[in-house]
Amino acid sequence: MVCNYRFCKQIISTYKNGNRRYCDQECYELEKRERSKENYGALKELLKEIKCTESIFRNFYNHYGDQPLNPNILKAEKINWALVTSFKEIEGQNVRFVGSYGYSRLENNYIKLYKL
Ligand SMILES: [Zn+2]
Repeated sequence: MVCNYRFCKQIISTYKNGNRRYCDQECYELEKRERSKENYGALKELLKEIKCTESIFRNFYNHYGDQPLNPNILKAEKINWALVTSFKEIEGQNVRFVGSYGYSRLENNYIKLYKL
């Protein structure tokens, strides 16, 4: 068995406890700290992507308002369509929001933008 702390990786003697994953409490704490740093980094990346996507929708909203958009107009933008921070039903439409701007897909596949 090898210590799970990424910068340690020492062989753990198994005679004390066969299931141990760290040399000691310190290695355990240090690995925990590394993981929370990683989580923080991932969170920062996600927030950046939300802000970026929101600003794309903001620009289009400021330009076109709520008139239905041909989806081809948005094709050039690298929009992560899986990204959503909230849902809201507006005028019978299921609107997906990213930050303060949202969109719904109309029957003809056109996209209508909304502002919270
Ligand atoms: Zn260790």
